[in-house]
Amino acid sequence: MNPRRRFLRLLAASGLGWSLGGCVSSRYLRGTGPGRVVVVGGGFGGVTAARYLKLMNPALSVTLVEPRDTYFSCPGSNEAIAGLSGLGTLERSYATVSRAFDIKKVNAQATHLDRPRRRIVLSDGSEVPYDRLILSPGIDFRWDAIEGYDEAASRTVPHAWKAGPQTAMLARQLRAMPDGGRVLITVPANPYRCPPGPYERASLIACYLKKHKPRSKVLILDAKTRFSKQPAFEQAWRELYGDMLEWISSEKQGRLERVDAAARSVETEFDTFRADVLNVIPPQKAGALAEVSGLTDGSGWCPVDPMSFASPFDSAIHVIGDACQAAPMPKSAFSANSQAKVCAAAVIASLAGEPPPEPLLINHCYSLVAPDEAISISGVYGYSWNDGQLATRSAGETPPDGDRKREAAYARIWQRNFRADVFGY
Ligand SMILES: Cc1cc2nc3c(=O)[nH]c(=O)nc-3n(C[C@H](O)[C@H](O)[C@H](O)COP(=O)(O)OP(=O)(O)OC[C@H]3O[C@@H](n4cnc5c(N)ncnc54)[C@H](O)[C@@H]3O)c2cc1C
Repeated sequence: MNPRRRFLRLLAASGLGWSLGGCVSSRYLRGTGPGRVVVVGGGFGGVTAARYLKLMNPALSVTLVEPRDTYFSCPGSNEAIAGLSGLGTLERSYATVSRAFDIKKVNAQATHLDRPRRRIVLSDGSEVPYDRLILSPGIDFRWDAIEGYDEAASRTVPHAWKAGPQTAMLARQLRAMPDGGRVLITVPANPYRCPPGPYERASLIACYLKKHKPRSKVLILDAKTRFSKQPAFEQAWRELYGDMLEWISSEKQGRLERVDAAARSVETEFDTFRADVLNVIPPQKAGALAEVSGLTDGSGWCPVDPMSFASPFDSAIHVIGDACQAAPMPKSAFSANSQAKVCAAAVIASLAGEPPPEPLLINHCYSLVAPDEAISISGVYGYSWNDGQLATRSAGETPPDGDRKREAAYARIWQRNFRADVFGY
């Protein structure tokens, strides 16, 4: 392949072509072949994929299957819990996306796939045919993992790990909590959606309590011994919240064994903790559709070929976002967006009978530790020809003495631009 063509392929795969002002124009990017591409799941992964498929080849028929009319973004939801913003800022309408980008929206839940016939079966029994299918169903919870914490228990003890009514419930409970009370957050082992998310949540809740209920405390019970951006989080906690916020690692307390939703208490191997507000973040797995369609392995997540995000179980199906195994990339909205662009380029290539471009993927994740202070972590990931997996090409994070105010300004700009890149507004 000549160097210019290879460069254009890399640019397309990284998604950088569009941020450079739409300067990429090759037959490859416009695509040539016909094809019905269906995307299931209208989150950060799915909507990005649908949108970029149309950007790369406007003639392509793209259908998005998603049961809801609007999407609630998890990024920004910790701010809503702490009262720094309203739930409305998290909401995006599919009608706007569908109209603006000529994407057909099917308002339905996909119940299973008829893989031999390349059909998606919907909750009303109807079917949607596809030539290529991109799945981005996000996560589901392992309701059998913690005794006492199932879907029914989550109606009074929120996880708030899918944004929307759960976010509102946790926010309400925090407002109703007496001063001098305890907020307890339990955090699962890796892998799970948004590795630094629980610690951002603890920071912003501590910030709320410091202002409104200063005799209260936040306790984090972790199933891990280390966590994402730990040195910078711990430095910020010492400076901002002192002994208001405490992190307890699994080394100290062992496993989380039981939740008593009625008593709002949890039992570890060594102790019992009572809370005024209890937030259990349960262990997770790929969205149920992936499991019932035979696309997961023993880990509960979907293995993929990171060159194209195609499933090893079915080459007409690609899985992106939280549902796929793309380590060392974390499960984040940024990763899902980056994977969606790589996947869209690979799908266009395969419909044109061409090999996928070599991928280059990025994750960059901000965490607010206070309304105007943030820290971040980044990684760039390339394809390793040695083992066919992704490899970290470069990585970095905010040092403990980093400029948190400047990072918070960047975080606000990122949030605005990122939602616009995915939903168009
Ligand atoms: C508190 C919190 C804060 C976060 N902050 C950040 C952050 O700052 N930065 C960041 O990068 N990431 C952040 N994340 C992570 C981010 O939200 C996820 O990684 C991201 O949403 C993954 O996108 P996805 O497309 O895989 O799944 P989702 O966004 O969950 O979308 C899945 C979609 O699929 C639909 N669906 C599922 N099953 C079906 C079916 N059978 N049929 C039809 N539709 C279906 C669902 O309705 C949903 O709309 C945060 C997460 C949390 C919980």
